[in-house]
Amino acid sequence: MFAFLIKIYNNFKKFFCLKILKKKYYRTGSCKGCGKCCENIYVNHGKKGFIKSIEEFNRLKLFHSFYRNLDVMGSDELGLTFKCRHLDPNTRKCTIHFFRPPICRNYPMEEIFKMGGILTEECGYKLVPIESFDEILSKLSK
Ligand code: SF4
Ligand code: SF4
Repeated sequence: MFAFLIKIYNNFKKFFCLKILKKKYYRTGSCKGCGKCCENIYVNHGKKGFIKSIEEFNRLKLFHSFYRNLDVMGSDELGLTFKCRHLDPNTRKCTIHFFRPPICRNYPMEEIFKMGGILTEECGYKLVPIESFDEILSKLSK
């Protein structure tokens, strides 16, 4: 009986995530507090893609307050990389944890994949596909 209820719950969860929330991944795990996601951040700004110049970034800061807390760390072939000034370098904790913005509260979201991002190996979260490869293949072959 218990296994049957779990199965119903899992099927409902799957339907809700896929059809209502339009998600493709479940988020599993929990934060280990490594602070890696608060540094080496790329800023992806809509159709323009990753921010590549200081001038572009300064313009963005005028409209989005979150970006005013980022300092440029460096750059690579994708664009500028940033570090959040609210990350405590010693404890690796967020100094505004209870007041952190939604983008941090909801991290990691599957949208990071669409933006070309990945989760660091240290991250305690995993994004697991809701539908297995076999399920998707079987749908496509119908
Ligand atoms: S506000 Fe806190 S959680 Fe968000 S990026 Fe900065 S240090 Fe990290
Ligand atoms: S990278 Fe993952 S485990 Fe590390 S602080 Fe960010 S969310 Fe937490």
